[in-house]
Amino acid sequence: MSWTDRCSICGGYLHATKSVSYDHILPSSKGGTGELENAQLVHPFCNTGLKGDTYPDVQA
Ligand SMILES: [Zn+2]
Repeated sequence: MSWTDRCSICGGYLHATKSVSYDHILPSSKGGTGELENAQLVHPFCNTGLKGDTYPDVQA
């Protein structure tokens, strides 16, 4: 387990007690599995199409 408590997309801190989303590193359509090694923790709002954007209220 090499995860930290940071979002893999925006680099901001995640709050484990709040909403945390799992993003597939390799999409299942490309053969990715649901195993932990193919998942990364991200913010739900980062996992819904806003990848790459930065947020002023998030410390990178
Ligand atoms: Zn994020």
